This record gives sequence, C-alpha cells and structure tokens, in this order.
Amino acid sequence: MTRVITSLCVREGACATVCPVECIVAGKPEDKYPWYYIDADTCIDCGACESECPVGAIFPEDEVPSAFKAKGGETQSMPVGTAGFTTVYEGKNHDGEAVHLEATKVLTAGEVVDLTPAIQANNDFFKSGPGYNAK
Ligand code: SF4
Ligand code: SF4
Repeated sequence: MTRVITSLCVREGACATVCPVECIVAGKPEDKYPWYYIDADTCIDCGACESECPVGAIFPEDEVPSAFKAKGGETQSMPVGTAGFTTVYEGKNHDGEAVHLEATKVLTAGEVVDLTPAIQANNDFFKSGPGYNAK
C-alpha cells in the first residue's frame, strides 16, 4: 500500500521534506505534471506526508475518494488544456517561493469531484515522467 497525492495538491512541497525515504518528487514539466508524486515502490506507508499536507491532498491508495465533497475553496489542479480548468493559481510553497499553476479550478461548497484518476496519473508519472527519469 502506498499513499497517493491527488489533484488537490498545489505544489506546496512540505510533504517531500518529511518523507523518511525521499520518495516524493515534484512533477516536471509543471504544466504537464502539475503535482507532487509518490513512488509506490519506495513508499513505506508511514503517513507522515498525509499529516503534513496543509490542503489534505494525500490519501492511502485504497481511500482516495471517488466522490470527494468539497468544503469550498479547495484548488484542484490538472495538466494544461484539461477542460474546465481555466483558472490560474498563484501561491507560495513552504519555502516562500512562488508557485504558478496554469490550469486549476476553485471548488465550490458541496461540489463533488472524483479524485481517483490521480492513482493512474501517479503510476504513469513513474513509468514515463521525464522529471523523475532525469533525476
Ligand atoms: S507515506 Fe511515508 S513513506 Fe510514503 S510517501 Fe508519505 S511520508 Fe513518504
Ligand atoms: S504537502 Fe500537499 S500540497 Fe504540498 S506538495 Fe505535498 S501533496 Fe502537494
């Protein structure tokens, strides 16, 4: 079992600093791989990242919600060009550095979204993600 970072991630980066086995990496290029990703082969399922995430983007793989009900105000991020994701997010990471995400949307209270596509996206990233392979 691994943890999975979902599309609620806003590249804030704190999770990667607490992972004891350093299996969390930022997707590159950002427009194609907008979140951080967890290497399932290395993850020891300790849960430290989930506790650290300020936006609740991380779930155990078998608990990733297919019907996540938004409180309202959450930012969901997808690759550039994804239909419906037309808002630009400007934020800061845990080091105070600027974060710019091109394709996001802000969820409204009660909106229900499926976060499970992040499981496949995470797996695909470690098969083909150029940022990971270039490490
Ligand atoms: S559950 Fe633990 S080992 Fe797995 S990614 Fe999170 S911090 Fe790292
Ligand atoms: S702590 Fe949460 S928001 Fe920050 S990079 Fe990790 S998953 Fe994304």
